[in-house]
Amino acid sequence: MAFSERTKQELVRVIPSARCCRLAELSAFYDFHGYLLGRDQPYLDFYSSSPLAARKILTLIKGLYPDAFTQTLVQRARARKHQVFTVRVPSPADSETIYEAMHSQPVTQQDAAVLRKKCCQRAYLRGSFISQGSVTNPERTYHLEISSDKTTTADTVLATFHALGLEARRTQRKGVHVIYLKDGEQIVYFLNVIGAHSALLHLENIRVVKGMRNQVNRLVNCETANVDKTVKAAMEQVEMIYRIHAYMGLHELSENLQQVAETRLRYPYVPLKELGELVDPPLSKSGVNYRMRQLLAIGRSLPSLESSQDAGEDGRVSIEK
Ligand SMILES: [Zn+2]
Repeated sequence: MAFSERTKQELVRVIPSARCCRLAELSAFYDFHGYLLGRDQPYLDFYSSSPLAARKILTLIKGLYPDAFTQTLVQRARARKHQVFTVRVPSPADSETIYEAMHSQPVTQQDAAVLRKKCCQRAYLRGSFISQGSVTNPERTYHLEISSDKTTTADTVLATFHALGLEARRTQRKGVHVIYLKDGEQIVYFLNVIGAHSALLHLENIRVVKGMRNQVNRLVNCETANVDKTVKAAMEQVEMIYRIHAYMGLHELSENLQQVAETRLRYPYVPLKELGELVDPPLSKSGVNYRMRQLLAIGRSLPSLESSQDAGEDGRVSIEK
C-alpha cells in the first residue's frame, strides 16, 4: 500500500478527545468539500471520495452531536473507481447548529482564518490532509502536499502551517492551489503534529537508512575509484543491514547479530578480521564470518529498499529468527 494511503488510514483512527478539536477537524472537512444547501430547508452535505474519510466525518458529527440525524449516500461515478460519499445532515435545525458552531470558533487576530488554539490548528491540518492531502513514498523523494480549488481554503491551510512553525510553500497546478512541504525533517514534524505516529516512524527509518547510505557512498567515492573485492563485500553487508534496519529494526535481531550489524555500520570498511576485534568481547574471524553470513541471509530475504512500498500491512516484513 502506498505511504499516502497508509498515513490516511492511520489518521482516520485518530479521534481528538477535546470537543474544540473535533469541531476544528470537522470544519476542515467542510472547508474542502462541505456545503450548506437548500434555501428554505437548509441541509448540510460533506462530500468525499474515500469511505474512510466519510466514516471519520460521521464519527466527528456523532461525537459532537449525538442526537443529530445523519445519512450516508454513495454515488457511483462513471469511472468505476470513482465513488462519491455524501454525509448529509438533513434536518435544518441540526444543520444550522453545526454550521454555526463551525463558523464561530475562536480565530487569531492577525489572520482571521486561522483557529486560535494550537490543538485545533493540528486537528484542522489533520482533516485537511485526509480530505485532500498526499505524501510521496519516502524511499523515492520527500514531498507532501494539500491541494484545494478554493482560494480561501488554501489561504487558511497555508496560514495554519505557518502558525505551527512549518515552512510550507504555495504554488498553482492547473488552477488548483497546492500547499507543499519538500523537506524530510519538516514532513516528519508535520506527521507528528497531525498525529500520524507510525507513518512518522516509517519515514524516520527511511531517512536514517538514506543518510547512512549516502555516507558510505561518499566514502567509497573519495577513497578510490578502484573498489576492490573486500569493499564490494562490505558494501553488500552494509546494504543488507540497511534492509534489516528498515524492515525489522535491528533490535529484532538476536543480541549477537545486532552487535555485529551495528559494528559493521559504524566501520563500513574494515576487513572482517578487524571487525571481529572491534566487537566486545572480540570474535574470531570465523566467529564474525558466521554471524555475518546469517545477517546476509536475513537481508537477502527482504525486498530491496527501492521497491519496498508493498511491504506488509505495517510496512514491516516478519522474519523468523
Ligand atoms: Zn482544540
